[in-house]
Amino acid sequence: MFQSTTTEAPQTFSANNLEVAFCTRSNNELKLAHRLYSMMGNQTLVKMGGAATNLALKLHLPIKGLIKKTVYQLFCGGETADEAQKVIQKLAKARVHTVLDYAAEAQEDEAGFDKVRHEILRNISLARKTRAFSYISVKLTGLGHKKLFEKLHSKISLTLEEHAAFNRTEKRLDDVCRAAADAGITLYIDAEESWMQDPMDELAETMMRRYNKGRAVVFNTLQMYRTDRVAYLKACLERFKDEAIVVGIKIVRGAYLEKEQERALKYGYANPVFTRKEDTDKSFNDAIDICLDNIQRLELCAATHNEYSTTYLTKRIRQGDLKAYEHRIHFSQLYGMSDNLTFNLAAAGYNASKYLPYGDVATAVPYLIRRAEENTSIAGQMGRELQLLEQEMHRRKL
Ligand SMILES: Cc1cc2nc3c(=O)[nH]c(=O)nc-3n(C[C@H](O)[C@H](O)[C@H](O)COP(=O)(O)OP(=O)(O)OC[C@H]3O[C@@H](n4cnc5c(N)ncnc54)[C@H](O)[C@@H]3O)c2cc1C
Repeated sequence: MFQSTTTEAPQTFSANNLEVAFCTRSNNELKLAHRLYSMMGNQTLVKMGGAATNLALKLHLPIKGLIKKTVYQLFCGGETADEAQKVIQKLAKARVHTVLDYAAEAQEDEAGFDKVRHEILRNISLARKTRAFSYISVKLTGLGHKKLFEKLHSKISLTLEEHAAFNRTEKRLDDVCRAAADAGITLYIDAEESWMQDPMDELAETMMRRYNKGRAVVFNTLQMYRTDRVAYLKACLERFKDEAIVVGIKIVRGAYLEKEQERALKYGYANPVFTRKEDTDKSFNDAIDICLDNIQRLELCAATHNEYSTTYLTKRIRQGDLKAYEHRIHFSQLYGMSDNLTFNLAAAGYNASKYLPYGDVATAVPYLIRRAEENTSIAGQMGRELQLLEQEMHRRKL
């Protein structure tokens, strides 16, 4: 299997080496990224752009070429998994792993769920054949209907028909987990909205119990902006205490903050997410500590663009007692974002990866709009990206 990291002990990590950070980006790519991130700073433009893009695609207006040459190029690997190979190879040269992500959003019918299952199985075969990547992400609403997850989460009984549909969902997931276990591939199950998460957690735990023998084939994702996730993490570890499996935990802060708050307000239940960023940050960093305390029976993926959390984890890895378990600790960022973290982590000898979405332009548009919306805050990610790009352009005298 693809081994990109060095066998030497990881070095001190610094996110500041921009030459390393942008080693895979040509001058033209840098300029394009700079132009796009500058445009994302304009909230009105992003809001109007998102709506206009959706409308134009519905009306079959010829805008795919424009999207493909701009925002798509920044955040996506290609229209097919084969097309994404070029980016995968480029990342591998810089010792960065790829988490291949089929960008299709939630599906609506059995044909859609079967297509996603087929696509993931195909990617597992591709990974096995090419040995170029060994991580794949899975969205459970791609394999089964979100209404089923919502009903089960709310403890509403399923009809016989729905029950059969849920069994088919579990079977699809089992098929991809079994294939991943056989092929030496790792599957990251993404976390989605809190109101469907309980049955998703149950499915993830069932698959871990079945396949995480000797290594974590299956990872569940925990959104640490949720007020209950530290407790869930502890309870999950307690459940697996006496079992001979390796628990797979990917931690994120969480992508649906506003949606979660708005829904809780609308239906009058307690807000499931923190309202202060510092509480989410603390919960994320506490989860790092809990995972590291249990690293003998766990693999951790810290999926974040946050420099403090990333640096904190590298510092803990370099402390003597974790040396034997470095291979169990992964870092991941989204393709097109926080290159200063990913490439400097990889160069310093840590397991670093990029989530690399692929899919035809129309399929990827909702993902792209989310990325654009997430990057509109000058105080947040967009400001960080622009600053780094400007510094690197200055260094290259562009
Ligand atoms: C590789 C990878 C995989 C991912 N997979 C998933 C996934 O499966 N599911 C998912 O939901 N997300 C996923 N995400 C997105 C992730 O949840 C975050 O939205 C995103 O990474 C930004 O958080 P951060 O830790 O990178 O950085 P930061 O910029 O430090 O944090 C921003 C995050 O902090 C939280 N936050 C901001 N303001 C507040 C506030 N006022 N109160 C409380 N919390 C606040 C929000 O979660 C926000 O997204 C993934 C991200 C990466 C990098």
